Amino acid sequence: MLAGLKEVLEQARANKQAIAAFNVPNLEMVRAAIQAAEEVNMPVILQHAEGHSSLVPLEEIGPIMLHYAKESKVPVVVHLDHGKSYDVLMKAMKLGFTSVMIDASDRPFDENVSRTKEIVKAAHSLGVSVEAELGHVFTSSLGGGEGRAPDDDQIGETDIYTDPRQAKEFVDATGVNCLAIAFGTVHGIYLKEPKLDLQRVKEIYQAVTIPLVMHGGSGVDAEDYQTAIANGIAKINYYTYANKAGATALKEYLKEDSQEYFLEECINRSTEALKEDYVRAMKIFGGK
Ligand SMILES: [Zn+2]
Repeated sequence: MLAGLKEVLEQARANKQAIAAFNVPNLEMVRAAIQAAEEVNMPVILQHAEGHSSLVPLEEIGPIMLHYAKESKVPVVVHLDHGKSYDVLMKAMKLGFTSVMIDASDRPFDENVSRTKEIVKAAHSLGVSVEAELGHVFTSSLGGGEGRAPDDDQIGETDIYTDPRQAKEFVDATGVNCLAIAFGTVHGIYLKEPKLDLQRVKEIYQAVTIPLVMHGGSGVDAEDYQTAIANGIAKINYYTYANKAGATALKEYLKEDSQEYFLEECINRSTEALKEDYVRAMKIFGGK
């Protein structure tokens, strides 16, 4: 069933779990995400990143995401990821998305506050939840694509991490329902071992008391996920490593020579591997 982000994340906090948020720029990814969620019997967030419009336009994939969400046996949030422009954010809400992320994190603090506030006002009047970002979650030069431009040199610089006091000021001023924070994760493939500032997550959560969001949430240790969840993370954006698992399965299949290859079998093999990776991740996030 179609669900709201606020309710799903509050329940997740109460259960000491995090909900997986999967970017699903094609039908196979939508289906794999729903199958995985039903298999582990947990809510899931299907999300479309504004930056993935070159893979599929919002107008095409949005109604498909909503259809699968409504038909599902588990609560499914349909969310716009990294919404930058007012038009795209409004379009997602009009399509029936139950949640949107306004990403003005590359703007100065005051402008991030005012842009976020404007979206919160429109969204809340429609019963739509809002995620915003404070601090800078960078994108690796390998993979990613939903966040900002590659900037590997700056990865690991703590001055771009979210400041707990500023986070409180931001949340009080904007009224957002959850907050994406920077504490060492990266969009895309990790080129260096990630070093996460998990204590900072705890300090931010204590300051803001709303669910926190981890971006660049694939490729992290199981133990680090669990500490992050205990400290306040309730939504984990997980994309790149599942995407890679699907491609690896396809590569293996194509090594099985002495046969004819068919596209539908290629798609089935990669979708199955994708689903298995989603299930594995969701079990870690759900503590099962
Ligand atoms: Zn992100």
